[in-house]
Amino acid sequence: FEEDLPDAATVTRAREAGGSDVLETVEVPAPAPGPGQLLVKTAAAGVNFIETYQRSGVYPVNYPFVPGAEGSGEVVAMGENVEGFNTGQRIATAEGSGTYSTHFLVDAAKAVLVPDDVSDQQAAALPLQGVTAHYLINSTYRVAPGQTVLTHAGAGGVGQILTQLLKARGARVITTTSTPDKAKIAEAAGADYVLEYQGFAEKVRDITNGEGVSVVYDGVGKDTFLGSLDSLAVRGTMVLFGGASGQVPPYDLQDLNKRGGLYITRPSVPWYLRNAEERTWRFTELFGALTSGDLKLEIGGTYPLAEAGRAHDDLEGRRTTGKLLLVP
Ligand code: NDP
Repeated sequence: FEEDLPDAATVTRAREAGGSDVLETVEVPAPAPGPGQLLVKTAAAGVNFIETYQRSGVYPVNYPFVPGAEGSGEVVAMGENVEGFNTGQRIATAEGSGTYSTHFLVDAAKAVLVPDDVSDQQAAALPLQGVTAHYLINSTYRVAPGQTVLTHAGAGGVGQILTQLLKARGARVITTTSTPDKAKIAEAAGADYVLEYQGFAEKVRDITNGEGVSVVYDGVGKDTFLGSLDSLAVRGTMVLFGGASGQVPPYDLQDLNKRGGLYITRPSVPWYLRNAEERTWRFTELFGALTSGDLKLEIGGTYPLAEAGRAHDDLEGRRTTGKLLLVP
């Protein structure tokens, strides 16, 4: 398929570690797909918090660095030994390489075909935050119908998906947001209780008749960590899956005993997309939830590729709801 290869790609990359001003948009030779790889013409790339950690240097990467693992688009070329895909097909992935680009590479094993009734934008919005919400409630801690769960940032990307999947499961959802407008969005996603951050643990106790919740999904991190522990029932599970407010400092494990024999885990996507079976299971259920209407994705902002820095500023500045996309 060599003849289908484009000459050049436009990428937005981090020159070095720093603020959003280190992001630059440049033309580079188009990447060529190696064995087992697809070259995808980007329809949309998903913006995720992790890219701000990579850009700022919180997570180590080599610069210049093209961020982005999530995207959708059309397969325009394939390397050797690719099975199950053809050029012209629409794919989506949470595990691509440098999706902040007009073209990106992905291992065919890590791409999924997009169903006809799912748009390119939805297909770019779903993978990373969708897989996260799916593994959190099915695999990290399996939530049962009727259970009460605390999640934070209920108007955010992961937050809205988590709430909707939990409601479809028949769980009771308590969440937090920072503004009344965000509270309305979290309610629309189905949250039963939307709290302010101030004093949330006490309110969780009130709602649960003093018991606390069996699980907290906490992607806010530094600012909410101790309050989340305060919200847990005896033998409850603390799932720390991110640090939107900053990383949680070192923690004394003895504290888990004092608080009632709590469990704690710090999961991330790669540990829950371990093989084809797991990938297929999660994406089949997520696309199914989109089709059935159990899950609706709010696209909170669409930015030109060259304005990825503005998307980062908005995300880090707490000004967004739902999913942010970059469109080449
Ligand atoms: P969101 O859309 O949820 O945006 C982050 C939200 O966090 C903000 O909108 C804000 O909502 C809340 N927040 C609270 N305190 C702060 C603060 N000090 N600064 C900025 N935001 C704050 O982002 P995502 O859905 O993309 O990600 C949510 C979290 O999940 C992140 O921590 C991310 O790293 C993590 N994540 C983890 C994954 C994993 O596998 N471990 C995978 C994907 C995401 P409000 O204003 O209402 O408080």
